[in-house]
Amino acid sequence: MNDGDVARRADLAERLSRVQGRIAQASRTAGRTETPQLIVVTKFFPAADVRHLAALGVREVGENRDQEAAAKAADTADLGLTWHFIGQLQTNKAKSVARYAAAVHSVDRAQLVSALGKAVRAERERAVAASETPREAMTALVQVDLRSVAQREAAGGGRGGALPEDVMTLAAAVEGEEGLTLGGLMAVAPLEADPAEAFAALRDVADELQRQYPHAQMISAGMSQDLEAAVSAGATHLRIGSDVLGPRPAVR
Ligand SMILES: *Cc1c(COP(=O)(O)O)cnc(C)c1O
Repeated sequence: MNDGDVARRADLAERLSRVQGRIAQASRTAGRTETPQLIVVTKFFPAADVRHLAALGVREVGENRDQEAAAKAADTADLGLTWHFIGQLQTNKAKSVARYAAAVHSVDRAQLVSALGKAVRAERERAVAASETPREAMTALVQVDLRSVAQREAAGGGRGGALPEDVMTLAAAVEGEEGLTLGGLMAVAPLEADPAEAFAALRDVADELQRQYPHAQMISAGMSQDLEAAVSAGATHLRIGSDVLGPRPAVR
């Protein structure tokens, strides 16, 4: 490694260990025996950083845009990392995502469920025809929109997940789709809301989901700013970007 690489790896090691310390502390405070899984969100940062992170023991990485994720996953395919797709997804990107993503956290509509199922089945057929090992089922998490009606209206109706009342219908669609397995739920705390309240609401939806689908144990919640609130509300997976990678690079 050159001096720049050495410095960058040391920087990432320090940030990563600080975040791991926060997660451990939050878990102790919440009296949790199992530490939630850290997913390091590498968006905006180069494949070289993914390599540094892998060298530091990170195995789970997340991305929110297909084009960037596909390139980075291909670039680092030799590392055997687990890729989580966490961003809004158009149905025409399902095919690409099925090539590299083990899990999609942002399932928010029935159309996307069928597109992902179809894409996974096609990817498996491609692999078999090419004498490659076919991928495993894709883990699908239903993203829940935790905004109030007023917050949704103020945002101009942009999508932020499925409405809580639609979650069970989407979960049933995922369960019925060959190639997908229902992982659980994902949410982002609304901008102006108290994350503790938002994640408590998510927990209620997760409890309802698990009554019907006991295996759907994943609760993907918590980012750099609110990971403590997420751990305390029972998150099983945390999606942390900036506190591990540092400030976003100016140029994309
Ligand atoms: C970027 C992103 C994260 C990570 O956010 P940080 O504040 O950088 O930790 C988590 N979840 C989603 C959906 C994201 O797009």
